Amino acid sequence: MTFVIICLDGFKYDYLKQTKFLKDLASKSISGKLHHGVGFVSEFSAITGKSAEQLGIITNNFSFGKGLKFFNFFKFLDKPNNKNFRLVLNILYNIKEFLVGNNQPKSIFNVPLKYSKYFNFPLKKNFFEKNSFRFPTIFELMKKNKKIVSGYMWPFIYEHNKTKLDFLNLSDSTANADERTFQKSINLLKKKPEVMYIHFFSTDNLVHSYGTNCKKTDELVNKLDKYVEEINKYAESLLIFSDHGMKDIEETWDVWSLIKKTNLIYGKDYIMFLDSTLARFWFRNKNSEQIIKNILNDSGKGKILNFKNKEIHDSSGDLIFQVNPGVLILPNFYQSISNKAMHGYSDDCSDEHGIFLFTKKGIRPSKKDINIEEIFELVLSNIS
Ligand SMILES: [Zn+2]
Repeated sequence: MTFVIICLDGFKYDYLKQTKFLKDLASKSISGKLHHGVGFVSEFSAITGKSAEQLGIITNNFSFGKGLKFFNFFKFLDKPNNKNFRLVLNILYNIKEFLVGNNQPKSIFNVPLKYSKYFNFPLKKNFFEKNSFRFPTIFELMKKNKKIVSGYMWPFIYEHNKTKLDFLNLSDSTANADERTFQKSINLLKKKPEVMYIHFFSTDNLVHSYGTNCKKTDELVNKLDKYVEEINKYAESLLIFSDHGMKDIEETWDVWSLIKKTNLIYGKDYIMFLDSTLARFWFRNKNSEQIIKNILNDSGKGKILNFKNKEIHDSSGDLIFQVNPGVLILPNFYQSISNKAMHGYSDDCSDEHGIFLFTKKGIRPSKKDINIEEIFELVLSNIS
């Protein structure tokens, strides 16, 4: 029998109420809310046991760096909303990276190509692999312990300590992605690995598009409930967590046009990256820092985040501004049209809370809220 670990991407704590199997299972488990910490790196915290502060990164994409020369090369062909052109560039870039052993899928999203020279993709290899982070992951440690581990994390199948690309699941349409994740995972479970790690990512995509409460979301929550019920038949012990919840968008905020109105010049005075819930800046002079700080502070749309670990500011922004729950920065370097829901807000916002439950034979049920990095300890203490 297998120790099964399931990450339900973007599965809000509130969704537990809507489920049958999961709700019942939670009542027989150690279970509670999960706090995801700051930014977009919570699953990395789960597999390394390190908070964002300790990891030195708060976003999974686009840190400050040597720059993406490949994308910058095509800057003269860049036009707004050129989706197909960007798709071709992404495919070419990923092939190029894949050939040198960097297999983490990457996308330039909507980053203006002329700005791509300032940014890098911090993650080169998918996280099943050795040295994907500076800190050892559960996968590296389990390998060291000679555990037989399998996994499915889109678009990778992990077996015998090797990842292979699931070519038939490369589409970013989520309609059938979880179905395939489920089928592939069952096939792997039938071979009885000691540990199995499964990541279902559709909730994240679907709730971004349709919001936290709608028929499509309800249907998906039910479907996942059934998948988990089936998977549980192969599990000796089961750990389920979501990496974050989701908050409905209440207003959009165009900070980009406010910055453009100043006579500051991108690249000369400042560098900016706009995530959906973070506006990040690196400054080239004191004057630009003061002007931009004033704009952000006067907006009333959020707060400046300060980190003790200077590395975070080097990689993610001298100034990192996080918007209030329900605010979406738009346009940003990912989206040009508004999503219905978002995450990456303060962890104090209850909509951001994820679920956590752990069960094994003879366990005494209890309620317990945890921080995402505690997942790491829980995994390691149950594999010996
Ligand atoms: Zn998301």
